[in-house]
Amino acid sequence: MMKRELIAPCGMNCGICKYYYRSKNTCPGCRGPDENKSKSVRDCIIINCDVLKKNNSEFCFDCSKIPCKRLVNLDKRYRTKYHMSMFENLDFIKENGIELFLDKEKQKWKCTKCKGIVTCHGGMCLTCGFEKYKN
Ligand SMILES: [Zn+2]
Repeated sequence: MMKRELIAPCGMNCGICKYYYRSKNTCPGCRGPDENKSKSVRDCIIINCDVLKKNNSEFCFDCSKIPCKRLVNLDKRYRTKYHMSMFENLDFIKENGIELFLDKEKQKWKCTKCKGIVTCHGGMCLTCGFEKYKN
């Protein structure tokens, strides 16, 4: 599902994350309640960022410190392994708004065989296993 509340401040779409869909220890998404998150998600310096809180910002593109080291590293990892880029997502949201971004994401992560959801981790459809994006 593509939902506004699933788009993290860094541009990550938690609706395409495999941890959001697993049956055990399901992650509520970066903006979800802390008690259901794994330690690494709970302790992420972006979701806990003081600048975001101080500016009352929804996304990192409002920040004067962009790109911070955490965001650069995250972007590099996701560009290399997970078929997406935080900076690309943030730029798109900044330019076009969240609704168009959600539409674009719906297309990008829709299985070409069964219209199920493809996750960025593995690039595979959760319903039929089709590999839309091979690693
Ligand atoms: Zn499928």
